[in-house]
Amino acid sequence: MLRLLLASLLLCSGAANADWHQHTFAVMGTEAHLEFWLDNDDSAQVQAAIATVVAEMERVNQRMSPYIDDSELSQLNRTAATEPVTVSQELFDLLTQAQQISELSAGAFDISYASVGYQYDYRQQRKPPEAKVEQVLAAIDYRLIQLNQQQLSVAFAHPDVRIDLGGIAKGHAVARSLEKLQQLGINHALVSAGGDTAMVGDRLGRAWMVGIKHPRAEHKTAVHLPLQDEAISTSGDYERFFIDEGVRYHHIINPKTGDSARKVVSVSVIGPDPTTTDALSTAVFVLGLQQGLVLIEQLPEYQAVIIDNQQTLHLSSGLTP
Ligand code: ADP
Ligand code: MG
Repeated sequence: MLRLLLASLLLCSGAANADWHQHTFAVMGTEAHLEFWLDNDDSAQVQAAIATVVAEMERVNQRMSPYIDDSELSQLNRTAATEPVTVSQELFDLLTQAQQISELSAGAFDISYASVGYQYDYRQQRKPPEAKVEQVLAAIDYRLIQLNQQQLSVAFAHPDVRIDLGGIAKGHAVARSLEKLQQLGINHALVSAGGDTAMVGDRLGRAWMVGIKHPRAEHKTAVHLPLQDEAISTSGDYERFFIDEGVRYHHIINPKTGDSARKVVSVSVIGPDPTTTDALSTAVFVLGLQQGLVLIEQLPEYQAVIIDNQQTLHLSSGLTP
């Protein structure tokens, strides 16, 4: 109540030269968005804040993209099966975090899914033949990615291992962008990249309203959630997919089968850390409703909204009224 009142006073007194600012741009193969409040509305400061986030997201992209030939990730994929590769602290830490989510999800989240993943082309509607999938399954196992903390190096214990950070890098980019905004003294902001969103503060006395897309109606929202000081990540089977003989092939792969995961159609995970919500949403998507909820219920700070393949909505206990 007190907070609400203070916010409205602020609005009245400072409204003449303070405002919300937003910017939308393309990065990491998706659309990124930021929105923030500046108490002192100085256009140079506004532009600096926008430029900082754009640069930070692009920096992460240059480092983590599998499509950029000299990205750190591409170099790792080319060499780590032959010899250990020394990487940046940032990449090492992200790989460590990915491994932790793999352990937690019994391998449902596994960045070595890419050993088969790169053989799918959703735009060209191309999937690998079954025999090929069988053959590369041996290279999908996060335990084949060996991290050496002293050397800050990474080695792959199988010649066919490839990794991809598509299930975790956008959350990381969002986290880093919000940190940058806070360093600029901004305390009310929202940053998103594709299905990964995080906020610092509230929307001046109100919560931010974040929508979860309807998985089968393109411009509809299935759920609106009021959030503040949280991250939310959504994984859906409707972002990148094709349908072949009635079967939906999409970009979230079950590492145990090399095929798309089909137990649920949308998973949103809410919690404090955007990198974790990003990876967890992918993990829960692969695990499905029952096992996915078991995982989320182990993590008191994290909640989930799951839409199953009958289009029924399920909530983890922390969201149940
Ligand atoms: P997006 O926001 O890109 O839709 P998600 O968070 O839903 O992403 O994650 C999907 C992406 O994660 C895929 O595009 C792929 O890059 C990667 N991915 C797919 N399956 C797995 C998996 N089992 N473990 C880790 N990453 C995966
Ligand atoms: Mg994810």
